Amino acid sequence: MKGERTFREKGGFEMDISMKAGAEKKPFKFIDIPDIVTICLQQHIGKPNHPIVKEGDMVKTGQKIGDAKCRMVVPIHSSVTGYVEDLKEVYNPVLNRKEKAVIIRRDGNDEMKYLPEYDLDRRKEIVKMVKEAGIVGLGGAAFPTHVKLSSQGIKKLVINAKESDPNLVCDVRLMIDKPAEIVKGIKLMARSLDTDEIIFATRTEEGQIPELERIMKEHGIKVVRVRPSYSVGAEKLLIKEMFGIEVPSGKFPPDVGVVVNNVSTAYAVYRAAYKKEPLLSRGASFYSDLTGIENIWFRNGTSIRQVIEGLGLDIDRFDRIVIGSLMMGWSVGSSDAPLLKYSAGVTALTPEYSKPYEKQLPCIRCGYCDLVCPVDIYPSLIMKAEKADDVKALKRYNVLDCIECSLCSYVCPSQIKLTKHLWQGKNKVNK
Ligand code: SF4
Ligand code: SF4
Repeated sequence: MKGERTFREKGGFEMDISMKAGAEKKPFKFIDIPDIVTICLQQHIGKPNHPIVKEGDMVKTGQKIGDAKCRMVVPIHSSVTGYVEDLKEVYNPVLNRKEKAVIIRRDGNDEMKYLPEYDLDRRKEIVKMVKEAGIVGLGGAAFPTHVKLSSQGIKKLVINAKESDPNLVCDVRLMIDKPAEIVKGIKLMARSLDTDEIIFATRTEEGQIPELERIMKEHGIKVVRVRPSYSVGAEKLLIKEMFGIEVPSGKFPPDVGVVVNNVSTAYAVYRAAYKKEPLLSRGASFYSDLTGIENIWFRNGTSIRQVIEGLGLDIDRFDRIVIGSLMMGWSVGSSDAPLLKYSAGVTALTPEYSKPYEKQLPCIRCGYCDLVCPVDIYPSLIMKAEKADDVKALKRYNVLDCIECSLCSYVCPSQIKLTKHLWQGKNKVNK
């Protein structure tokens, strides 16, 4: 990865990732704990949480503030100590709709409510701890980690350290900073799945992070260096690349005996197990065309404004703010939008770079979008079906296989936002 400048995609298309080269050397900048945090109640894929606090309640850092009795639920915790100022609706980019959030004002302390003791020798207890700690997939998917870790019949645990997005390097930075802790988290994940076969998938070069490599070797973790390609970071594609196994449409990695977890998620498991800390903060990469990449560490519920100003930047210089990476992120209308557990990146663009799809033209049927799609679906046909509200056709074209990588939009000479149609198409099928 040292000096890496491009990724080669399906169809021979090359993607510029020069902004990433060497950025993993930048240490995390800790964003000050804000005076006020906005914590969305649902920060996972699954069923909603219900608030378990009310206006005026005092809460400690790490105290649970939302939960529900359901397997597909991940509880949510306060990331600061203070009192509940309000419960109100805010825009939640995971759900792409307004949703209830708890607004907490700090009282100046940072008093911690720790997780209880768990018997880490018992598989079920590890899963229970991971759920109680509010851990979700930190690579950006926000899938409940305890659900993955309770899969049965798993042969292989893959740790995804591929970090393919062109402006994210926070996972690699964490690998440099916390190698022993990451490995402890990985070992617990493997124990919960009852497998000894652990594969660490990375695009770092041999010798680049010697301490991590040494500890991995000591623990029998196999390191696989994956070809530099953006789309290969998606879990189904990673499995195909490494093992030649195709996860069928409509199925998931555990159906072929594999569980894939992100490397930052492994670190969150370590903190829950050995520090008794729920998921309250995380590392991410900030990118702007003014600064390049910076690595940041923030508390859940910190706003984008607080991050940008915390980095000493003038918020008014930016015209477009994206939660997430350049390729997979979501534009948000307001810099007061809060960051969530799964926010691996923040992207801020000045007016010069902020409107890539401004001059949208009609489709010329060039087929580039179909050629580059890594999951072999037909974005141009899906766009047509989505516009026509043809749910039958959307299903026939396997819209649910879309991994929302945005490569189709990226290559389109007519600057059509195809990913938006794919995303809307998925929603129409899932209704
Ligand atoms: S966003 Fe979906 S349709 Fe477009 S290239 Fe990626 S996987 Fe294919
Ligand atoms: S790349 Fe754009 S112009 Fe070409 S077929 Fe796809 S949607 Fe149409």
